[in-house]
Amino acid sequence: MSFESLGLCTELLSAIAAQGYATPTPIQTEAIPVIFEGCDLLAGAQTGTGKTAAFALPIVQLLSETIPPEKRRRPRALVLVPTRELAAQVSEQMQNYGRRLSLRSTTIYGGVNIRAQIERLHRGVDIVVATPGRLLDHAERATINLTRIEFLVLDEADRMLDLGFIDDILKVAEYLPAQRQTMLFSATYSQSIKQLADELLDQPRQIEVARRNIAADAVAQAVYAVERSRKREMLSHLIRKGEWNQVLVFVRTRYGADKLTEELLFDGIKAAAIHSNKSQSVRTRTLAEFKRGELRVLVATDVAARGLDIQRLPHVVNYDLPQVPEDYVHRIGRTGRAGEDGVALSLVCQAEQPLLLAIEQLLKYAIPRQTIAEFPQVAIKRGVKAKPSRKSAGPSKSRKTSASPAKADPAPPAATPRRKKAVAERFVPKTGRRGRRS
Ligand code: AMP
Repeated sequence: MSFESLGLCTELLSAIAAQGYATPTPIQTEAIPVIFEGCDLLAGAQTGTGKTAAFALPIVQLLSETIPPEKRRRPRALVLVPTRELAAQVSEQMQNYGRRLSLRSTTIYGGVNIRAQIERLHRGVDIVVATPGRLLDHAERATINLTRIEFLVLDEADRMLDLGFIDDILKVAEYLPAQRQTMLFSATYSQSIKQLADELLDQPRQIEVARRNIAADAVAQAVYAVERSRKREMLSHLIRKGEWNQVLVFVRTRYGADKLTEELLFDGIKAAAIHSNKSQSVRTRTLAEFKRGELRVLVATDVAARGLDIQRLPHVVNYDLPQVPEDYVHRIGRTGRAGEDGVALSLVCQAEQPLLLAIEQLLKYAIPRQTIAEFPQVAIKRGVKAKPSRKSAGPSKSRKTSASPAKADPAPPAATPRRKKAVAERFVPKTGRRGRRS
């Protein structure tokens, strides 16, 4: 299958070529024809599969076919996303494709001055990429007119529900015309996602691309069992000995992110943190520095890192294990993207054993254990069988894994028609509304 055979116009084919995409990914092959047909779409696809281009390309092409003559155009496509960073990334792709076809795109999210957004909306845009909370503010103030929306995309819908955005999404939907094409992308199909789809989609075509088998194909994983008090030291050791150029480090709390950053800086390792307490301008600047390779370590909380697409990121470290096992898969999906190899290491202390067990039960295999001579190993049990053929990941130099200074644990793991009524109360978000401003 080629991009040409998907019916994309020459402007978009040259944009795709400029990105260096040779062939469509499975989600693109399946979703683009469905969107061109005008059907609603319920797509099971996680981040890293190329899902953004899967909806951005056909939407941009369809919008370009009927550009209204007036200068102050009202938005005709709306993409809802869970985080500001994802909004910025999706909008960047929309702009990249849309510019070639004279379409304008903008982002709407909280944490930044609303006035500049109002001015941009006033000047006229075709595509809006937004987080639900701030978009609803605009809709309620009537600073955005959503009556011309033809395309609605719910991107990472499961994360939006996790972050407690359900009320806002349903309220935003009340401002939209009933005649529209709606696409919902979600990595998981929970009951809440099904209910949301029932509410907002009209006889959707369902597609599901195979979960990216991150662990097996692209990412070498390992667990280092270590005392909590020595995690920072071990991280510095891994970075230095492995001569890592860049690493994304996940921590559980905002406080933990700041503290670890300070400690790494103290160790002479250039690091910065992103989390929801940082201003949006700081977050944007930090991310840009990291993407340009000017920062060696980016320390992030889950919410801030959701959906981040950093090209050629070789290392991810779980400094703290995530509370929700699925977040482990999201986290390690930051590396090993688009055909690259990656290394994902987890520093696990005894108190985190239940979290590790839950992750291994989700993966259905045990992650290989590694040790470093300088750091005495703490006892961490395994809950499931080891995966038979997976190579393990030690600290690596550049993109290759190397045996030294870690040595593999020799023992294999042991077995073990749309309705618009308010339905918010039927949806039970896992984490309340605390993510709204992130
Ligand atoms: P996404 O799932 O949209 O976050 O995309 C993940 C990564 O895959 C991004 O870096 C995209 O630029 C890249 N990508 C998207 N489509 C393709 C393709 N057809 N070939 C290669 N890389 C792609």
